[in-house]
Amino acid sequence: MKQRLPVQGAQGDLLRLVATGGAESRADLARLSGLAASSVSLRVEELIEAGLLVEEGSGTSRGGRRPRRLCLSPTAGVLAVADLGAHHARLGLLDLSGAPLVVEEVPCEIAEGPEATLDLLSDAFDRLLAERVPPSVPLRGVGTGVPGPVDPATLRVVTPSRMPGWNDFPVADHLRARYDLPVLVENDANLMAAGEARSWPGCDNLMVLKVGTGIGCGVIVNGRLHRGRGAAGDISHVRVSSDSSVICACGHPDCLEAYASGAALSAALADAGVEVQHTSGIVDLVNDAVPEATSMVRNAGRRIGEVLTVLVNFFNPDVVVVGGSLSAAEPLITSIRAAVYERCLPLATRDLEIAPARAGRDAALLGAGSLLLDAAVAS
Ligand SMILES: [Zn+2]
Repeated sequence: MKQRLPVQGAQGDLLRLVATGGAESRADLARLSGLAASSVSLRVEELIEAGLLVEEGSGTSRGGRRPRRLCLSPTAGVLAVADLGAHHARLGLLDLSGAPLVVEEVPCEIAEGPEATLDLLSDAFDRLLAERVPPSVPLRGVGTGVPGPVDPATLRVVTPSRMPGWNDFPVADHLRARYDLPVLVENDANLMAAGEARSWPGCDNLMVLKVGTGIGCGVIVNGRLHRGRGAAGDISHVRVSSDSSVICACGHPDCLEAYASGAALSAALADAGVEVQHTSGIVDLVNDAVPEATSMVRNAGRRIGEVLTVLVNFFNPDVVVVGGSLSAAEPLITSIRAAVYERCLPLATRDLEIAPARAGRDAALLGAGSLLLDAAVAS
């Protein structure tokens, strides 16, 4: 079953506050939303009637009458989300709180073009829904991450590298034609940042790096994903200083990505006579103490760190989170730290943490769930 969430405006905000664990009573909702207690009660009754919330008799007693506890109804709905990579897609069904019900990885060649890729994804969603979700629980929204820049106004992919056929393709329209539901299309590093943000309580300003085949970065400002006009956080094409001149996939010389991405390191290793299939192969070489690989990863970290010095001084985040497949190679984060701590202003680094990602392999799916819930209650 497919069904839009029957909520609007303030009612959507109340549902989201309960779904994300921010509120568990009418009193919490009144405090957090600023609405009058009577109007919170009215809307909560409507949400219960719509089958989205349930109210239980427990809750923490503070003497006096025991408050009833609000929570999501187990039949409130599910979200179908995916994270597309170059050769595989990780996909999941989540409940409206963002908790994964099932996660699965399927082989998927993004180079086969948008229609084939998105249809494969949708077929996999439909199969999982049929297998894992009772027919009475509606699908409320569909979302996917893509490894390229996304225009937030049109939800189209704009001039991506390594995604032939995707430029300007109407990804959201294609998915909407099949599902007629709220749709999320987002850059993969942005999704990862939104997912990581949930794992850093007390930190409102984050830079989340994704160092894999390419290099991406998502920016969280005051607890929310900052998209700008779509390219916010894209550090891959910052020019780095270099003796040689390497032409990047974008056509310009000496981009960070042309020196420090998994793709660049794989190419450099191949030139040195060492073949690796995927970025994880570079991590294996580093773990096996192959000197060429260790030194290349260290140089990559230094170059990324040099670009970050400018950004850390400018943005002054609480945390720089380093994720992506290459981040499993220890010298990467060590040399990023060395460059940033050496060159940044003391005030910028005094309480700055530069740390490995915490949210694990499902970070992008968790981020997609949280952003898709925002879209579903707003539409
Ligand atoms: Zn470039």
